[in-house]
Amino acid sequence: MKVQETPTPESGAARTILIDGEFRPSRSQATFPSINPATAATIGDVSAGDGDDVDDAVRAARQAFEDRRWLKLPAPQRARILHAIADRIEAELEQLARNEVLENGMPLPIARATIGNGAQAFRYFAGWIGKIHGQTGEMAQGEPFFGYTLKEPMGVAALIVPWNGPFMMACHKVAPALAAGCTAILKPAEDTSLNSLRLAAIALEAGVPPGVLNVVTGLGSIAGAALAGHDDVDKVSFTGSTAVGRQIVQAASGNFKRLSLELGGKSPVIVLEDADLEKAVPAVLAGIMTNSGQACVAGSRLYAHRGIYDRLIQAVSDAASKMVVGNGLDPGTQMGPVISRKQRDRIQGYIDGGIADGAELVTGGRCLDSDGFFVEPTILSHAPADSKVMREEIFGPVLSAMPFDDLDWVIRQANATRYGLAGAVYTRSLEAAHTIARSVRSGNFWINCYSVQDFWLPFGGYKESGWGRERGAAGLDAFMETKSVVARLY
Ligand code: NAD
Repeated sequence: MKVQETPTPESGAARTILIDGEFRPSRSQATFPSINPATAATIGDVSAGDGDDVDDAVRAARQAFEDRRWLKLPAPQRARILHAIADRIEAELEQLARNEVLENGMPLPIARATIGNGAQAFRYFAGWIGKIHGQTGEMAQGEPFFGYTLKEPMGVAALIVPWNGPFMMACHKVAPALAAGCTAILKPAEDTSLNSLRLAAIALEAGVPPGVLNVVTGLGSIAGAALAGHDDVDKVSFTGSTAVGRQIVQAASGNFKRLSLELGGKSPVIVLEDADLEKAVPAVLAGIMTNSGQACVAGSRLYAHRGIYDRLIQAVSDAASKMVVGNGLDPGTQMGPVISRKQRDRIQGYIDGGIADGAELVTGGRCLDSDGFFVEPTILSHAPADSKVMREEIFGPVLSAMPFDDLDWVIRQANATRYGLAGAVYTRSLEAAHTIARSVRSGNFWINCYSVQDFWLPFGGYKESGWGRERGAAGLDAFMETKSVVARLY
């Protein structure tokens, strides 16, 4: 099909709701501005979808599902379409990366990597299409009974994504939803709508039938809440804060929607006395400063053995203080702004509170004097165990550290959190590495590295970091129901 010119906020048209293959404004015509966090300038206006637009989108997705517009395409054709989406993403990588920098602020090389990762999500899940099988089995009753299971798509899926890796995270949800045979409504975060719209246009151009993937831009408390509470949505896949995740659980209870929740974290990083510090220092730093600390897996709590504590803190702080902070489009920028003025002020509040609670400021600690929303890479040492900077997700470039002497004690500290998303240990001891990996209650754990991920590895959190897993077979299963069928053969 011919897709109309992709709307962008720059076009000023704000025709940014996609329903049944047509881009249009919100029914109310209301818009909100998209802001460049590096300059505080308005990039353009985005349609503010509300409950009426969500109703339209859900109706379109339901109709497309009932008509089997997507599932009736042969599996090899669906797989080819997902590969074609990946091809188009790769062909447009530079523009998509620039959009990502404009809206999110991340440095361009990181943006390029995240866009490329989004393309890989489509390739990975394209590979599953045609390989989704149920099981057959004998029945205890014996002949003439015969049983088997069918894997069926859950139906209409709402995909609600945050702003910290907007394009990549949209891909991480759209690709498995389509591979499983669902139809979907994508709801980007209000700070970063641009690339979700381009992704949907790419999907249409690549051959995804109209109505199979719809997009409603808008505020979380309005458009997101309408999706989470909608009686004709079968599944919500949500990535965002634990607080909103809790609201979604309540909103989704009306019709017992299936839920996948990828929520917040406060991940511990443990450095033992025998660690290779040459490798550990850059990994610890990248583990917290990547994307200005706005990563769900950010290694934000550092526990270092007292024998190497001062050396490690000094080395990490030296490296942090040398980081080039600036506009993500400037060559050489290593760390961009945080997403918004509100977020910048919140982070400053945490830093000031941590110091007031007794933490020692080793480096950073201030916002840059700029129109944009920049926070210095900040290291807080000897942060008290019960201080907010050690307990709460800051979602900024702030590392809170404390020394330890005893392994059992540090494992208890690592687990003394309501979160359970990730963690890491740096050591040369196999025994210690694997003991700690088994002892820390988190869905992801790294040994002598940080945030190294792949699509076949399930990703998700223990405790209040979420429900279910994305990626891998588990990520596909999260968009499918299992039906048991028993037949009497004669
Ligand atoms: P957020 O929870 O404020 O928003 C996430 C999304 O939910 C946005 O699209 C928003 O518009 C929408 N939303 C807001 N209120 C809603 C409501 N009442 N009903 C339905 N939808 C609603 O989170 P954020 O600030 O955009 O992102 C940061 C958070 O995301 C952090 O806590 C971070 O740890 C988490 N995160 C988790 C993962 C993971 O995989 N575990 C990955 C990235 C980010």
